[in-house]
Amino acid sequence: MSDCVRVVEVALRDGLQNETTVLSTQSKLALIDALVRARLGDIEVTSFVSPKLIPQLADAFDVASRLPDVRGVNFSALTPNAVGVRRARRAGLSHVAVFLSASRTHNLKNLHRTTEASLDLYRSLFSEGLLSGLHVRGYVSTVIGCAYEGDIAPGPVVELAEALLDMGCAEVSLGDTIGVGSPRLVRELVKAVASACPVERLALHLHDTRGLALANALAGLEAGIRIFDTSIAGLGGCPFAPGATGNLATEDLAWALAREGVETGLDLDLLWEAGVMAARLVGRPLPGKVHQAGVRYRPERV
Ligand code: MG
Repeated sequence: MSDCVRVVEVALRDGLQNETTVLSTQSKLALIDALVRARLGDIEVTSFVSPKLIPQLADAFDVASRLPDVRGVNFSALTPNAVGVRRARRAGLSHVAVFLSASRTHNLKNLHRTTEASLDLYRSLFSEGLLSGLHVRGYVSTVIGCAYEGDIAPGPVVELAEALLDMGCAEVSLGDTIGVGSPRLVRELVKAVASACPVERLALHLHDTRGLALANALAGLEAGIRIFDTSIAGLGGCPFAPGATGNLATEDLAWALAREGVETGLDLDLLWEAGVMAARLVGRPLPGKVHQAGVRYRPERV
């Protein structure tokens, strides 16, 4: 098992879709530049969903088609259907992501179809060749608990992760969407999913709703996970939008892993600067701990 961790930056998508402030395309591209400078190698930049549903990401095509041409950086976008995949391709993206929920009710509310229908849809995108040549990530959300259904057992999550990998997804990101996991629950979940899927193809997508995201990430690390989704400075989850809460902050994970002697390849000073830019752009203080504390006391290994 490699001791290198890959961090997938999701502030531009998962963060911004939960902010009330709508950033200009130019501001988003400036933030993306700052994240690239901080050496993030995987950046989710937008989602090709209906602008009516998520007006914050209405400029998906503009953002995706104006990305910097930097070697070694994977830019990706969420694509809920064939239209989204075609638009992502036309914009020049090589990485896309499909998503579904382990909670039936959450899937119905969020995607207006059953979880099985979502699986069938994504399977058809693969079989019809729409996803050929693309790196496809599969997201499973509400893997530990759901606001509508309560606790989610690992069993269905294992089946969904397996199905997504079987149909052609390169990796599966397991999302604690509403932040109800604990280290014990994360360990149990990872153990269950890793019994059916290669652990190196699994990511953890943790929200800090109840303050346990970093503890959960470290539990996931111990259980073998080496890919984590984070959001710069904890962007996302406007305090005025109840129920919307931010992802684990990129700087917090990077700092903790550096202290633990785990390599991320990230530049903590430049990450911090990107977080300052993010806070300025959305016009509110952001919740990341390292973002707030600063990096003056910094571990040698960063
Ligand atoms: Mg999320």
